[in-house]
Amino acid sequence: MIEIESISGNEKALAGFLADYLAGAGLTVQLQQAAERRPNVYARHGDPTVVLSSHTDTVPPYVEFHEDGEYIYGRGSCDAKGPIAAMIKAAETLIEANITDFGLLFVVGEEAGSVGARAANEIPNRCRYLVNGEPTESKLALGSKGALKVALKATGRAAHSAYPEMGESAINKLLDILSELRAAVWPTSDRLGATTMNIGGLRGGVAANVIAPQAEAELMFRVVTRTSELKRMIESTVGVRCQVQYTFECEPVFTEEMPGFDTAVVAFTTDIPMLSNWGRPLLFGPGSILDAHTANEKISKFELAHAVGAYASMVKRLIEKPPAEPA
Ligand SMILES: [Zn+2]
Repeated sequence: MIEIESISGNEKALAGFLADYLAGAGLTVQLQQAAERRPNVYARHGDPTVVLSSHTDTVPPYVEFHEDGEYIYGRGSCDAKGPIAAMIKAAETLIEANITDFGLLFVVGEEAGSVGARAANEIPNRCRYLVNGEPTESKLALGSKGALKVALKATGRAAHSAYPEMGESAINKLLDILSELRAAVWPTSDRLGATTMNIGGLRGGVAANVIAPQAEAELMFRVVTRTSELKRMIESTVGVRCQVQYTFECEPVFTEEMPGFDTAVVAFTTDIPMLSNWGRPLLFGPGSILDAHTANEKISKFELAHAVGAYASMVKRLIEKPPAEPA
């Protein structure tokens, strides 16, 4: 799978490979066009009450497959082709054990806008549990933080820097706002921990001898409570001093627990919020998010093999589990 390049937008060849492989393994396969030449793959064994799900796309640039005794390397090895491989092998062991009513759902575009998950959410199903596969170091996630991307745009009035009283510096204004935001106390959650803020971009001004007429900053918050609460706090700190725009937002997710697994909270976002029609979510996968998106992306062969059994046992237990109370 690593040898089939599938950078977001170019998932078709990998989807074709998965569809053929899964049909050969005895599953009923459906390709859903999430966008032009971007098929999601949905494979069923019976009428699924549990699906194992992940994404077929990767971030750029492509990194070639290689391996040593301990690891498999290459783009997608842990995010998320390793989890996909473990899910497929788990499905094969379940079929061999005559277990039915589960499915596999592999969507396009997780790394860029979740177009695949949004389309997949329209597929009719009576699924009760969704096991999402992302690299969680083989721990069952208790939840994942949400995200809020914010653009701050300050405007001032240009003037000769020798006569600052004739102008108004947008940069000074923005720096004041940013230092207040850095000092602010953001919401925390018992389960997900602290809200964090990153100032990831800063631009402004014209030249050293001109009072800056404009300045802007791009921030990313990792969210542990409702984004609406955070927005209120940001707006009350900023006031009318600059323009606030929200360019991306995603609510935090609280996932199901299951005895017998090590647990963790993850700070990255997943397709789970966009797959709300697939039942209550769990999040588990081999590999580390710290290797994902790097030139040295890798997955441990030991962890990969272990994940096969973990996914199979989750599916078995969730199929037998009585329907959960509505959230
Ligand atoms: Zn991923």
